[in-house]
Amino acid sequence: MVNYITKLLQLSVLSTPVMKMASTSAVGNLKEELNCSICWNIYTEPVSLSCGHNFCRSCIEKNWDKKDTGPGYSCPECRAEYAQKPVLHKNLKLSNIIERFEATQMNEEPPKIFCDFCLDNPLPAVKTCMNCEASLCEHHLRKHSEKTAQKNHLLIEPASSLEDRKCSDHEKLIEYYCLDDHSCICVTCYVAGPHKNHDIRILKDIHNETKASLSEKLEKLQSCRATLEEATKELQGTEMNLKKDSAVLRKQISDLFQEIRMLLTKQEKQILDTVITEKNINLSKVLKKIQELEIKREVITHLIQEVQDLKNQKDPLFFIKGFSEVSGRAVAGSSTMDAASHPNVFGLWWDWQTPPEVGTEKSHPSPKLKWISSNNTEVEKLKVSWKKLDETTISTIKQETKRIFEMLNTIIFDHPVQSNDEMVEERYAVEDENEEESLPESL
Ligand SMILES: [Zn+2]
Ligand SMILES: [Zn+2]
Ligand SMILES: [Zn+2]
Ligand SMILES: [Zn+2]
Ligand SMILES: [Zn+2]
Ligand SMILES: [Zn+2]
Repeated sequence: MVNYITKLLQLSVLSTPVMKMASTSAVGNLKEELNCSICWNIYTEPVSLSCGHNFCRSCIEKNWDKKDTGPGYSCPECRAEYAQKPVLHKNLKLSNIIERFEATQMNEEPPKIFCDFCLDNPLPAVKTCMNCEASLCEHHLRKHSEKTAQKNHLLIEPASSLEDRKCSDHEKLIEYYCLDDHSCICVTCYVAGPHKNHDIRILKDIHNETKASLSEKLEKLQSCRATLEEATKELQGTEMNLKKDSAVLRKQISDLFQEIRMLLTKQEKQILDTVITEKNINLSKVLKKIQELEIKREVITHLIQEVQDLKNQKDPLFFIKGFSEVSGRAVAGSSTMDAASHPNVFGLWWDWQTPPEVGTEKSHPSPKLKWISSNNTEVEKLKVSWKKLDETTISTIKQETKRIFEMLNTIIFDHPVQSNDEMVEERYAVEDENEEESLPESL
């Protein structure tokens, strides 16, 4: 039980600062959101522009008054332009939030510094006088400032300790700034100390001057931010266009390749079909020719048989009779058979058909001789033309195709795209170079 309570206590001790830190950072974030981007303080009478940005009324009015950037008006934060001076409407919602925020701040952080002049029930101090080294409530501040001698006293926000506002060497208030050494000093530092005859300024003046220059810098930073925002917007536009253009190009390339594929398939089919058709035409020519030759061969085989039989006939009467019969059948055959398709066979026979006449035999050439000398025995050759693709043609076609795709790459990328192999080769080449370079170091 005791352990349990101890643990709880430990937990509460541990968790409190963590929670406080979290809420402090949340308050910090909220406070940042409530800052005017011109004066960098919490908005006083916040007004809205139609671009959505808010400013203190006086800040935006001053900003527009002093600027002579042409006829238009622009938002100091996002540079949104307005041809007419925008009517400034109070942002009621934001005003309420600020009011509430300030109220909670007041409640959460009650002033810890009280007036040093109030005797009973000291009131919260509104200022601390650095010369008198005292904190003052509103009533005593009025009294303090009424005295002519105290009119120029340096008043600051209520502070409990002035130790860090005093010179560590002279125990006097730091009221000056040495321009030569860029340090804050007291009057003795200047009169009798290390800063004698140095160029010094009253701290308050230097504060005002620096504050003014800070405003200038702030303005420059804001304009710089606006420029960056503009550039980012432009790049975002480029990003969008790039994505869009790339999609269009990809579609175009896909369509082109689809068409090329279709064209290739169509061409391949057409050429293959033509090859088959040509083959069939030639094949039918060849088959027809073979058939013709077969017929001729058969006729001749038959004739050979008959002529051989005739030759073996020893009886002159039967020989002559047989001869007439054979030649007569050949003549008859010529009318039934297609003589035009067997010109050689029948040409051969016509030359031979005339029977040798008795008595005039010697004046006629021998039929046998005539047959041998006949040119008609030659077989007409069938010419079939057949083309082949040689290696040169194949490689030319390949090269031409490659050239077309290289041209396409050059058009799209301004340089021919490297194949994966080429890239690998190049990488190895680079690695080799690196190795060579690193060698002397390691040696
Ligand atoms: Zn402001
Ligand atoms: Zn704006
Ligand atoms: Zn007082
Ligand atoms: Zn004073
Ligand atoms: Zn000093
Ligand atoms: Zn100095």
